Amino acid sequence: MTWPSVLRGPFRDGSGRSKHVHPGIHGSSINWSNVIALVAVHVAALGAFWTFTVEGLVCCLVMITLTLNVGILLGFHRLLTHRSLRVPRWLELSLACLGASAAQAGPITWVALHRKHHAHSDRPGDPHSPSAGRWWAYLGWTYHPFDVDLQRWARDIHADPAYRYIERWSTAIILGVAGGLYVVGHLLGGQRLALSFLFWGFFVRIVYTWHATFLVNAMAHAAREASPSAAGDRSRDIWWLALLPCEDGWHGTHHRQPQSALPGYAWYHVDVPWLVIRSLEMLGLAADVKRSRESSTALRRVHGRGSRAVTTGSL
Ligand SMILES: [Zn+2]
Ligand SMILES: [Zn+2]
Repeated sequence: MTWPSVLRGPFRDGSGRSKHVHPGIHGSSINWSNVIALVAVHVAALGAFWTFTVEGLVCCLVMITLTLNVGILLGFHRLLTHRSLRVPRWLELSLACLGASAAQAGPITWVALHRKHHAHSDRPGDPHSPSAGRWWAYLGWTYHPFDVDLQRWARDIHADPAYRYIERWSTAIILGVAGGLYVVGHLLGGQRLALSFLFWGFFVRIVYTWHATFLVNAMAHAAREASPSAAGDRSRDIWWLALLPCEDGWHGTHHRQPQSALPGYAWYHVDVPWLVIRSLEMLGLAADVKRSRESSTALRRVHGRGSRAVTTGSL
């Protein structure tokens, strides 16, 4: 399936004003199903105020770790997009289902969008570059039709019927997880815990993981005025993003060496997906784990210089 190529992001012209370089963006090019989903989940998450329990909060944190750290960052990103490692097929498909349950699109769409992001980073064609404006990079691009050819950018998994099946049934997987959380909560603590698991483990968790991802898209690439980073685009490492539970703060390092399974380069760059990858490797469930070809000292030197150059005047 190929998504309609209706939209290309607006990019800023030399005057600093937002400008639609590519024709096709107009008022009718709104992805209404995404708009409705965005609004509905945010409104539903307000129910968390009336359903808080400690168990619900723990459920939320566990689900963030499983769906964002393991499903998206490990499964969709490092395994499927960049092929940073190999795992048995049953585990690969399980990770793809986990990623689909994060409500960030099916595996084929997610992989295609991210590969296109790397290929056109901070240039026309990048689905969510801040060069088109912070709001566009944060949220704007999500409620317009995605301009990405799935067969071109995700040819490998698009050709696999199992991935097309997961893609087609992504919404069912998401709703199945919601139902599962409700049932587990009910079995453990009755109606009160069922609602707490549903609102905290599902709605609050999805709102958190959406905004954590949006924040990386909007902030981990500098604005147009910045100098190119060490990776040749405007990607950069942001320490405070890495402090957020479960997100990629070392984005500049990742753009410099996208196939490395470990985006950080210092001992304090704690990375949950990497800890899972190392555990899988020790259990014999992960092979060909790609590591950086550059020494940590060289990366620190390059990114220290690049980060400072990019940060100046960029915000
Ligand atoms: Zn990026
Ligand atoms: Zn990447």
